Amino acid sequence: MSNLSKTAFLAEKVIDPVCGRRVIDGSEADHQVAHKGNIYHFCEPGCKKAFADNPEKYIRLLRFASHEW
Ligand SMILES: [Zn+2]
Repeated sequence: MSNLSKTAFLAEKVIDPVCGRRVIDGSEADHQVAHKGNIYHFCEPGCKKAFADNPEKYIRLLRFASHEW
């Protein structure tokens, strides 16, 4: 059940971990990557590819950026 609420939260507003842009799940953010049980959303294929090449780097950046939002 906790997974459902987490998914709903992520669907509302997510941050592209590569470029830091906010993206909305289901509209412009059709580019997704599943990594270690989490779904990450990207604004464009280039960001998705960059994340796939080095996911740990961008996950660290995302955690830092989350404090700003
Ligand atoms: Zn992006």
